[in-house]
Amino acid sequence: MNKEERKKAKRKEYRDKPENKERQKEYYKSNIKKILKKQKEYDKKRDRKKVYEYIKKRYQTDKEFKRKFLVRKKARGKISIPKKQICGICKKNLAVERHHEDYSKPLEVKFLCKKCHINIHKIK
Ligand SMILES: [Zn+2]
Ligand SMILES: [Zn+2]
Repeated sequence: MNKEERKKAKRKEYRDKPENKERQKEYYKSNIKKILKKQKEYDKKRDRKKVYEYIKKRYQTDKEFKRKFLVRKKARGKISIPKKQICGICKKNLAVERHHEDYSKPLEVKFLCKKCHINIHKIK
């Protein structure tokens, strides 16, 4: 057995000791929140990347999508949603999004809450 092998064997021996296995379990148990949070952050990052890639692909392959995307981008840059703006449909929630009735008029938008905005696109 050379030095490296001896080291490896020692490490394995250490891991296999029941008290050390217990310690690992304990570590996991007492840090479960931290471990889960890390996992969640990692998932979020991966999801964001997926969404980004999806948009990029549609942008490159779907002309209609590209046109609307650019209209929305223009509206985002030119029209800010007024503070305390109430949703144009439910008149209850705070408006947080812009909606285009007509994509040929980039600067004509309705201010809607998230819920109404999703609904209006479901209907159409
Ligand atoms: Zn609403
Ligand atoms: Zn919309």
